[in-house]
Amino acid sequence: MITAKEVKAHAYRLGADLCGIAPMSRFEGAPPQNDARYIFPNAKSLIVLGFRIARGTLRGIEEGTLFSNYSSMGYAALNQVYGPMVLWNLTRILEDEGHETIPMLNANGGEAINPVTGNFRRGWSRPARPGKPYPDILVHFRLAAFIAGLGEIGWSKLLLTPQFGPRQRLAIMLTDAELEPDPIYEGKICDRCKLCVKNCHGNALSMTESVKVTVAGHELEWSKLNPLACEKGIQGGSEGELNPFEVEYPRMYGYGRAIEGACGCMRACMIHLEERRKIKNLFNNPFRSEPQWTIDRSKPYELTKEIEEYYGSRGMIEDVQDYIKYNENDNYATAKKTKQKINPLID
Ligand code: SF4
Ligand code: SF4
Repeated sequence: MITAKEVKAHAYRLGADLCGIAPMSRFEGAPPQNDARYIFPNAKSLIVLGFRIARGTLRGIEEGTLFSNYSSMGYAALNQVYGPMVLWNLTRILEDEGHETIPMLNANGGEAINPVTGNFRRGWSRPARPGKPYPDILVHFRLAAFIAGLGEIGWSKLLLTPQFGPRQRLAIMLTDAELEPDPIYEGKICDRCKLCVKNCHGNALSMTESVKVTVAGHELEWSKLNPLACEKGIQGGSEGELNPFEVEYPRMYGYGRAIEGACGCMRACMIHLEERRKIKNLFNNPFRSEPQWTIDRSKPYELTKEIEEYYGSRGMIEDVQDYIKYNENDNYATAKKTKQKINPLID
């Protein structure tokens, strides 16, 4: 019979940074629409895997020079590529031992509960059997991580772990393997500094209003989050002050445009926890060397002297509309037909 120790050793070997285990009974008290026991009634254990968000994926946004890396490598690739690979391989190991296992990546789409607002979607689906919840059930990955002992929920509503603070993404598994559970994390990482609130450019987190819930017999409290304000804020701040782009920024892996780089709930919190040495993954250099930049949109768009001199003098400035047309047609020949100059360094 496979043990919790063996499952964890496999998880780490396969590429997870964190692995916690909870008995399914810790879902007791969850609303049926969020209760994973309805997904797999024979499941005995919840396995939660954590994958670090490399601090470096936030560097380009911190400097204001590269915005695709966090959305891609720090977000979509972890949730949609790397995490699922580990899930698949760990599932293979468990199924080879005779344990049916559901690998669940962090993706939304079919839930009866709107994952952004938390509201029930009337008219979305019907229960497939009497007494069952409306499909799809929405499992809260952060709360799953809490009940699997990986960390606490900070004031920001993000999961904070003693290893990485707010810097991880999650994947979960439901299995009928009965595994020794981890204790609930009882430490205190969040000191209620509220820097997440002060630095949130979506004005999405409340300084004083909170949400209180009881999970696995533990009272949890976090800031009341305005999810729609966060949706807007994460795309460059509520006034676009953290968005240096004049056009709509592309989606990475078809994913969201997180170009604000979670300025409050992730970056400010991480800086604070690193300074306080509250987390294990510390670095040789401090993350921030200059104050947070903002874009002054009251000024007209203009080209710098350097750009005029280098690209202008070579006839290598094109209008952004040509680029948009080029992307829409997704065709190199179109670029040639429209006589765009092709930069030999890129082509
Ligand atoms: S920034 Fe401060 S208050 Fe906010 S989650 Fe982090 S430690 Fe807690
Ligand atoms: S992602 Fe940005 S807008 Fe949303 S809560 Fe975090 S800091 Fe605020």
